[in-house]
Amino acid sequence: MSTETLQRALSLDFFLFFLVANASHFLQPLYAAPFGCFHRSLRVYNDQYVWDALMNGESTRDALLAAAYHCERRAFTPAVVKGAFKTTGLWPFDSAVVLARARENLGIADDWSSARAQAAAMASEVLAEARQRVASGKRRVSGGFTVVQRGTIHSPYNLIKAAREKAAEEDAAAEERRKTKVARVEKAASKAKDDQAAVLRRFELTCRLCSSTRHRGGPAWLVCHCGRWRACPRCKCTQTASSSIAAHKQTCSVEGGGEST
Ligand SMILES: [Zn+2]
Ligand SMILES: [Zn+2]
Repeated sequence: MSTETLQRALSLDFFLFFLVANASHFLQPLYAAPFGCFHRSLRVYNDQYVWDALMNGESTRDALLAAAYHCERRAFTPAVVKGAFKTTGLWPFDSAVVLARARENLGIADDWSSARAQAAAMASEVLAEARQRVASGKRRVSGGFTVVQRGTIHSPYNLIKAAREKAAEEDAAAEERRKTKVARVEKAASKAKDDQAAVLRRFELTCRLCSSTRHRGGPAWLVCHCGRWRACPRCKCTQTASSSIAAHKQTCSVEGGGEST
C-alpha cells in the first residue's frame, strides 16, 4: 500500500491497519459478525424470494440478488459493524481479546493447556453432573408396559397412566381368578362333606343285620332312639338282632335309649 493512500485515508479520518497472515477468519471484524449474520439470513430470505416469485408466476432468476440486497441492508448496519470491531478487540484495541481469540483459534485454552484436555475435563464434569442427576431422579422413574397405537405421538405421562391402568386391570382380574378358585375349592369341600353325610345317613337307614334292606319310614322296623341303629321287620326277631341291639345300647350315646317299633 502506498504512503499516499495512507495519508489520504488519515485525512478522511480512516485508520488503516494490517492483520497478520492467516488471522482474518477470527480477527477480521466483517467476518466475525455481519457476514455471519448475512449468510444465515440469506439462506432464509432466498427461499422466501424464490417462493414469492413462484407464487406470482414470475422468474426466480433475480430472487438471490433481491434476497442478498435485503439481507445486506439488515446485516451491515453501523451498530453491527461497530459491535464486530469491539468483539474482535481491534477497536477499541484490546490485546487480551486478540490473544484470546488467537489462542482459541490455535486450539490452546486460556491456561495454556490444550483445548482438547480442557474439553475432556469439561465433558467429564458434565457427565458426573448428569450421573448425579439421574441417580437423584431414579426414585421418580416410572416403568411399565402398555399397548399404543402405531404412528402417533404419545405423551410420556399418558403412557405411564395407561400402564398403571393396565396393571390395575390385571391385578383386578388376578384377584377375581383367585376368588373364583377359592369358591370352587370351598364348593368341592362342602360337596364332599354332603356326600359323606349322605353315605352316613344311608348307612344309618339300612338294616344293621342284613345290610341290604333300606328303611323307608314304615312302623314295622326296630329303631333305636338315637336313630343310628335299626333292624328290618324280617331280621328284628332273630337271635342275632337281640345281641346286636344289646351291643349297640352299650355304645349308644342317647340317655335312656330304648328301642321303638
Ligand atoms: Zn334285615
Ligand atoms: Zn342307639
